[in-house]
Amino acid sequence: MISKLKYYLKTILLVELFQGLWLTGKYFFSKKVTLQFPEENTPTSPRFRGLLALRRYPNGEERCIACKLCEAVCPALAITIEAEPRKSDGQRRTTSYEIDLFKCIYCGFCEESCPVDSIVVTKNMHYHFEERGQQIMTKEKLLAIGDKYEAQIAADKTLDEPYR
Ligand code: SF4
Ligand code: SF4
Repeated sequence: MISKLKYYLKTILLVELFQGLWLTGKYFFSKKVTLQFPEENTPTSPRFRGLLALRRYPNGEERCIACKLCEAVCPALAITIEAEPRKSDGQRRTTSYEIDLFKCIYCGFCEESCPVDSIVVTKNMHYHFEERGQQIMTKEKLLAIGDKYEAQIAADKTLDEPYR
């Protein structure tokens, strides 16, 4: 009997409607957590593993010494390197460095294995391909990405340094 009375009172007084409106009002005036993507992005860790890049030294010299450790360690067999001594000074350098991004699983092992911090995974996650074959990242493309994001890569490396 009492429970029925409670039920009718709740129904007549629109209690549940006002409870719902109170909740709506609470979130209407609270701080918004929605981001306006792509203009706004969520924060990413310095260890985020996105698009790959090859780095240069500040004097413009490419870091890669063609040791092929990254090629050997890559579990997806995504990296293909050809190398020979450079004609001008005899230093070992890559003549071809390619990564197939369709094979890459963004494990970051190549970055971990590189003795000269040449191949790195960057924070860049916004990229796409429009034609067949664009997923093959050549040395020139990887160096261009490295040049573009060098400041960010260096800052992330510095932040991560105490944990390595
Ligand atoms: S991130 Fe992993 S899968 Fe991708 S190229 Fe490097 S080692 Fe290979
Ligand atoms: S990117 Fe690094 S690990 Fe790979 S071949 Fe060059 S120097 Fe060696």
